[in-house]
Amino acid sequence: MRRLGLLGGMSWESSVEYERLINEAVRDRVGGVASADLLVRSFDFSVIEALQAAGRWDDAGVLLADAAGHLVLGGAEGIVICTNTMHRVYDQVAAAVAPVPVLHIADPTAAAIEAAGVRSVGLLGTRFTMEQGFYVDRLRERHGLEVLVPDEPDRTLVHDVIYDELVQGVLSPSSRAAFQSVVGRLVDRGTEGIVAGCTEIELLLAPADVPVPWFPTTRLHADAAAAFALSD
Ligand code: GLU
Repeated sequence: MRRLGLLGGMSWESSVEYERLINEAVRDRVGGVASADLLVRSFDFSVIEALQAAGRWDDAGVLLADAAGHLVLGGAEGIVICTNTMHRVYDQVAAAVAPVPVLHIADPTAAAIEAAGVRSVGLLGTRFTMEQGFYVDRLRERHGLEVLVPDEPDRTLVHDVIYDELVQGVLSPSSRAAFQSVVGRLVDRGTEGIVAGCTEIELLLAPADVPVPWFPTTRLHADAAAAFALSD
């Protein structure tokens, strides 16, 4: 089994889900007492969040690239960036550890969307993920998907709930209802599925909470990471 290096803490609320899901996937496939071989680097999210808010992506990229390099020195054979937003610096991280692969979160997500026969998805995530090209363009250009993001003020609502509640461990029924309304407006605009494109959103909403197919990126990324670990 290959050793995985996880870049986590962004936030730890979802990193613990990654660790649980990767271990469960390994146990399901191998059986017995088998579990994943992991190195976890968990950042202080306040440092990362301050760099995001200041638009200092290159500096954040240096931190993640440096940490990924340490994981490789520790024997990691694949790197997992446990957040959608920080795929903003995917290229910096990938360049730092090449030829060790960095498993991009959008790829297993797109594969699940395609497998479900869905062509058009609505994307919920941080403002950075919804508005900057790094994520939407990969879904559109590499995978040929149609991607809608919420209109304002819904984008602000989703972004604020992520930072003010979800990454702080707050799961509120009123925010769940507000997200369901945002999803309803995306469905009204014609979207056939919803990408939970922030790794904490699937803590708040379950598949039964939305009326169309639901693509939870933490679970899909964790499953892909486990498959990679077991594929050697
Ligand atoms: N975990 C979130 C994501 O998947 C947001 C926190 C962050 O900015 O990394 O985008």
